[in-house]
Amino acid sequence: MSLSNIRIVLIQTSHPGNIGAAARAMKTMGLSDLCLVKPSRFPDDQAEAMASGADDILKSADVVETLEDAVADCKIIIGTSARSQRTLRWVISEPRECGVIASENSAKGKVAIVFGRERTGLTNEELALCHQLVHIPSNPEYSSLNVAAAVQILSYECRVAHLDGVNEAKQAGTLDEEIVNAKDMEGFYSQLEKLMIDTDFLDPDNPRYLMRRIRRLYGRIQITRSELNLLRGSLSAFAGRKFRRRDND
Ligand code: SAH
Repeated sequence: MSLSNIRIVLIQTSHPGNIGAAARAMKTMGLSDLCLVKPSRFPDDQAEAMASGADDILKSADVVETLEDAVADCKIIIGTSARSQRTLRWVISEPRECGVIASENSAKGKVAIVFGRERTGLTNEELALCHQLVHIPSNPEYSSLNVAAAVQILSYECRVAHLDGVNEAKQAGTLDEEIVNAKDMEGFYSQLEKLMIDTDFLDPDNPRYLMRRIRRLYGRIQITRSELNLLRGSLSAFAGRKFRRRDND
């Protein structure tokens, strides 16, 4: 998964301010690959003004002649439409689904999300180059968002899906590691108990269910091998310190 593999393609944008606003929308969500197909005016002061601090995205943007050029190296091409049902030839998905598809495929290669002209959207030829279409469920009476606002929503969905993927991978990483068994935990409990007695934290004549509570605490979580090593290693270090201090007494 890599947000840098998600390319935002803007086709024949007529208002340069929209290009700047799209760059800003992308940067806030961690996207950086912008490709402009035949923009009316670019570079342009209005684009820079609207980009705010995202002018690096404008500077590194590619400017090309056709959509084919923009997506030549992309494995998945997702088109966007202000209309919910243009024709049944295309699969229309929702932004959330689009984010997941973009995020998952970005691990294997470039993914393009293509945005149309302010007034007329994408042509049928351009739609035909897309593998699927996404529609932001908007008011059917007034369904057309400003193009940069549409970029913001889909970039956000890519980010959410990306963060979900990162979290899942992290969890899987922990679960891949061996969880220690009861015998290993017994070794830890006796080491801890001994240290607590040695430091007078635990009075063996009046233990007050202390060890039972400790067991209940650690029993609530699954401890991995490296975590147990950390716990036992730190106990040994505390014990060593205690004995050193005693030597100095
Ligand atoms: N009249 C045009 C509207 C274009 S709006 C049309 O019917 O297509 C400019 C661009 O913003 C669109 O091409 C699309 O890329 C994006 N956009 C606007 N509203 C959208 C929506 N509800 N869902 C998905 N994309 C949208």
